[in-house]
Amino acid sequence: MASIPGKSCGPCTMCCKVLWIEELNKEPGPLCQHCKIGKGCKIYHRRPQVCRDYECEWLQERELGPKLRPDLTGTIIQIDPDSDEYQAVVDPATPMIWRKNELVFKLLVAKAKEGHVVVAKSGLKSWRIYDNGTYAPWA
Ligand code: SF4
Ligand code: SF4
Repeated sequence: MASIPGKSCGPCTMCCKVLWIEELNKEPGPLCQHCKIGKGCKIYHRRPQVCRDYECEWLQERELGPKLRPDLTGTIIQIDPDSDEYQAVVDPATPMIWRKNELVFKLLVAKAKEGHVVVAKSGLKSWRIYDNGTYAPWA
């Protein structure tokens, strides 16, 4: 899906920090060695295909407003292509930020109410968020 008009990554580089990127042997948490904060990718024209293909849900969905941009919330919203889970992926250094940010948590509960399996992920830890506003560790 293409990003929608009026939306761009701008200064956000959250996916270059928070995600596990196998092709770069990059663990979740440390900023990619090729990323320059405030500037973006230093190897933009030869970045791996996985980086070219990736677009978080915020970039793709008009309903997710400007305050939900990942660098402002500390949370990347994405739909996992394998499991179809609606995921909130955060930096292992701030594992509960998806709960502390009320805008993010409200969105996650709303998505659970729509019938999605909603999961927050921080490194190897994860939590399932339910439609009644509760959450619990998730395998
Ligand atoms: S997390 Fe989303 S908005 Fe931020 S840089 Fe990655 S794709 Fe762009
Ligand atoms: S190679 Fe570039 S686009 Fe890919 S994670 Fe690193 S800085 Fe980001």
